Amino acid sequence: MSRIYNFSAGPSAFPETVLKQAQQEMLEWRDSGMSIMEMSHRGKHFSIIAEELQADLRTLLAVPENYKVLFLQGGASAQFSLVPQNILNGNTKACYLNTGAWSDKAISDAKAYCDVVVSVSSESTSFTTIPGAATWNIDKQAAYLHYTSNETIHGVEFHSCPDSQGLPLVCDMSSNILSRKIDVSQYGLIYAGTQKNMGPAGVTVVIVRDDLMGHALKTVPPVFNYAEQAKHQSMLNTPPTYSWYLVGLVLKWLQEQGGVEAIEEHNISKAALLYQAIDRSTLYSNPVEIASRSRMNVPFILADESLDKPFLAAAEANGLVALKGHRLLGGMRASIYNAMPVDGVLALIAFMAEFERTH
Ligand SMILES: *Cc1c(COP(=O)(O)O)cnc(C)c1O
Repeated sequence: MSRIYNFSAGPSAFPETVLKQAQQEMLEWRDSGMSIMEMSHRGKHFSIIAEELQADLRTLLAVPENYKVLFLQGGASAQFSLVPQNILNGNTKACYLNTGAWSDKAISDAKAYCDVVVSVSSESTSFTTIPGAATWNIDKQAAYLHYTSNETIHGVEFHSCPDSQGLPLVCDMSSNILSRKIDVSQYGLIYAGTQKNMGPAGVTVVIVRDDLMGHALKTVPPVFNYAEQAKHQSMLNTPPTYSWYLVGLVLKWLQEQGGVEAIEEHNISKAALLYQAIDRSTLYSNPVEIASRSRMNVPFILADESLDKPFLAAAEANGLVALKGHRLLGGMRASIYNAMPVDGVLALIAFMAEFERTH
């Protein structure tokens, strides 16, 4: 067996030690006599897994008491529609920052439920910038301000928490949650699919401040109603138990790495190494303004498009896979989430230099 370096944007690379632990516990979890997949979600064994999952995420992100942490289904995509339905609370307007493909998607889905005020858009720069806060048009009557902290496709990241001018701040944190320190108390609501930086696909984390819950539209199905799910520890129906378990293992792995602060240092240096290599070369380039470059997703293009295919083929032959860019942008993209070891980044950099030398 030989495991490769997987630069996929999601589902994405897992910490190898977590996969090994899951393998070890596959047939029997602790002394339960059964696999997690076979357990009742309300039984005593799974209750331990669920409680530890909740506690570990709260600890890692220092979630304050007045927030609930929910584990839902439907992906971040479902939240594009569920956020307005749950927290508009009679309001007809919501503000959105449009900084890339994912905020664009959130905006178009929200339009079914409210008047969307696009407070700023960087579309005119092909989503390579984050326009300064002074240029944002924030409507103080709106129910909330929504933004995407890391644009997985365009490779643009907010490196500080935006000033929502008093509105509850809502964030799609799917592709950089747990990669850097955040102050949860600055947010009204945070949501994230788990398959980028927290585990396998199938779970959506929603962290929501208590006062924003309880005013959902009557048409919202109970399993998508934050207050209902909070009342039932996210077990209004059968949760994806095995995915919860795997997310739990990834959180314990992250604690062993020293938590969010330690992994952030690691992520800063991995990203710096890769961007330096790109900026030094004449073959590769990254279009994003330096101050807004993502630490998680690094898109880059080759000066000669006809080299794309040979680049990808040679990369794969060298054990470096899933580097093809998103179909919207073309080119390449290296996703270097928490689980990507620095050795993987160094191997990519060495390969890129060798490819440039020989082409
Ligand atoms: C991947 C991603 C999504 C969509 O996630 P799904 O789980 O496929 O719904 C939404 N927002 C961001 C920022 C993402 O990276």
